[in-house]
Amino acid sequence: MKQYPFLDLALANGPYMDELKAAACEVIERGRYLHSTQTEQFEEEIAALCEARHCVSVSNGLDALRLILRAYKEMGIMRDGDEVIVPANTYVASVLAISDNGLVPVLCDPREDTMNLDSSLLESLITPRTRAIMPVHLYGTPCWDTALMQAARDHGLRIIEDNAQAIGAKSNIAGLNGTFITGGLGDAAGISFYPTKNLGALGDGGAVVTNDDALATTVRALANYGSDKRYHNIYPGYNCRLDEIQAAMLRVKLRYLEKENETRAAVARAYHDAIDNPRVKAPVIFEELKQIWHQFVVRVENRDAFRAHLADNGVGTDIHYATPPHRQPCYHQLAHGPLPVTERLAGEVVSLPIAHPITPDDARAIASIINRF
Ligand SMILES: *Cc1c(COP(=O)(O)O)cnc(C)c1O
Repeated sequence: MKQYPFLDLALANGPYMDELKAAACEVIERGRYLHSTQTEQFEEEIAALCEARHCVSVSNGLDALRLILRAYKEMGIMRDGDEVIVPANTYVASVLAISDNGLVPVLCDPREDTMNLDSSLLESLITPRTRAIMPVHLYGTPCWDTALMQAARDHGLRIIEDNAQAIGAKSNIAGLNGTFITGGLGDAAGISFYPTKNLGALGDGGAVVTNDDALATTVRALANYGSDKRYHNIYPGYNCRLDEIQAAMLRVKLRYLEKENETRAAVARAYHDAIDNPRVKAPVIFEELKQIWHQFVVRVENRDAFRAHLADNGVGTDIHYATPPHRQPCYHQLAHGPLPVTERLAGEVVSLPIAHPITPDDARAIASIINRF
């Protein structure tokens, strides 16, 4: 029986092994392990990809989001106790970035079809203390619309994209800067290069992308001990740098990102067209968007039996995410309204294999297994 592991990173990186090894050797032999040409060039490439003026490479996606919010605090734009609206069905890191800065996460229930932030709920969540909205492009589906921009404009809010899952995705509606690509839509964006992401390092990595000169300068200083120049510290900062080896790995993989995203889209289309089971709901393909399919997430009520059926037939699955942030022990004191869509999604979502080496033919084979459930 053919096996379809959910994700095997050694296999996923297989096509690039030789190039990765050569690039790593180059950095090792050159002897400059931080603050050098690989990170500089990687930053330029990511800024260009996101059609933004600045990219600051950082240690991981959580730090990227933390640094944006901390920088806004240093810039006097946010203060302790200010509120940031964030979707309730996200990876916990989006919320951690907010609470870690002494800010208050205000959870917004998602839309059923996009599984992303429901912008029609924003007005009911905005208070005099709201300072920002953090849309998350979950699973690689862009979360952007005019209601979001309108709410931000009307109330003077920053829009901080959590672009951890959607590098290379495109909205059909222009962002604040007139561009369509996620990471370049709002005031600032955090990106993650966690190994499982579409552009994954061989370890941790992240980036802050923005058109705001002052924000970029502040983030860069904060990520380097708070120093604006050598041995001169203007903020009590952190060490959140990306290292040269990871930048080199990411530059190799960046060259193939578009091709990888296209393959994922073909696999998603194959799943979508071939899944034909009233008990299993496939995600919506939005023709007007460019979704990059970080995950292909179906919904099924009898999830445990479904996953067991797939496992019995050699198909690995995962759940993103079974426990939403407001159900985590660390947030038991976080106030929030009813979150019925979040709760329902958390009980039904199942992620199917989508990364390399899964092909559209594999997706059709897996779909026929699904259709027998
Ligand atoms: C992965 C992820 C993060 C955190 O990124 P790390 O690099 O793992 O710190 C934040 N938000 C979302 C939505 C993510 O998927």
